[in-house]
Amino acid sequence: AKQNGRDNAKFFEAYMASEVTSRFQYEQEIKDALDQQQFHLLYQPQVDTLSQSIVGFEALIRWSHPANGMVSPAEFIPIAEESNLICRIGDWVLEHSIATLSQWQKECANALPIAVNISGRHFVAEGFIKTIETLLLRHQVDGQLLKIEITEGVFIHDMSQCIDIMGALKAIGVEISVDDFGTGYSSLHYLKELPLDILKIDKSFVREIGDQAEGDKICEAIIQLAHNLDLKVIAEGVETQEQAKVLNRLGCYIHQGYYYDRPLSEDAALKLLKREQHT
Ligand code: C2E
Ligand code: CA
Ligand code: CA
Ligand code: CA
Repeated sequence: AKQNGRDNAKFFEAYMASEVTSRFQYEQEIKDALDQQQFHLLYQPQVDTLSQSIVGFEALIRWSHPANGMVSPAEFIPIAEESNLICRIGDWVLEHSIATLSQWQKECANALPIAVNISGRHFVAEGFIKTIETLLLRHQVDGQLLKIEITEGVFIHDMSQCIDIMGALKAIGVEISVDDFGTGYSSLHYLKELPLDILKIDKSFVREIGDQAEGDKICEAIIQLAHNLDLKVIAEGVETQEQAKVLNRLGCYIHQGYYYDRPLSEDAALKLLKREQHT
């Protein structure tokens, strides 16, 4: 048994060592990806079902790794979030989204807003607001064209700090969405305390619609809550006509999902934007 215990300890040490190496290697690969332009953004339309028009886009990052092909953000974002690498990625996403907005402004009569996903660590990092202000100014883009999506996880940080950051974003016209609403563990207190604009219903709730009789109850509750608190509400992951119908019936009219459009390349998004404006 003693021998066995020692083996286990050895195994654990080796495991930890390889874990450290692979994390280190993984982080190095992310740094290389930033330096070598291996990231790009896709833009998924958000549709207003009342006016039947596109009202904005969400920027979603993609990594084409030279050896491993497409790596999902669901894989590398959590790893980047364990260090300040997530701030470098977030800055890159902001820079590219704002540059895209500037491009759209030149090519279309009306550019539409882009929502950017920002991790908690980055949101409260020093210089976050300054970076946004600088980029908007440099690219001559109005703050109202940029939206920030954060998850409830952000609110584990100091409330008064969150209030300050959100206030600064508000002051330059940048709206704030709570992403994946209802999937975190936070209390609902923050909804009263913080100057939020939008609740995004997570696709895990939208998926339940129509599945069983009670499937739409959570969506209904979130939509009611948003209305009562005077917040806008967006449903993500809308895949079927039935889900769209139910959401409309419940009073949620801004939808995002494969039923309408997949995340699109920058060119495809611009084409869609131009077509929208001719109709
Ligand atoms: P999210 O912010 O909740 O984004 C929505 C995800 O749902 C995206 O996955 C999108 O492609 C996918 N989606 C859209 N419509 C549908 C649909 O109808 N059905 C289904 N099943 N899925 C749909 P994606 O692009 O793989 O991103 C996964 C997550 O990675 C995002 O979840 C977000 O948390 C994170 N992420 C993506 N881009 C960024 C980024 O630029 N920065 C940060 N910090 N996180 C990002
Ligand atoms: Ca999002
Ligand atoms: Ca989500
Ligand atoms: Ca998310």
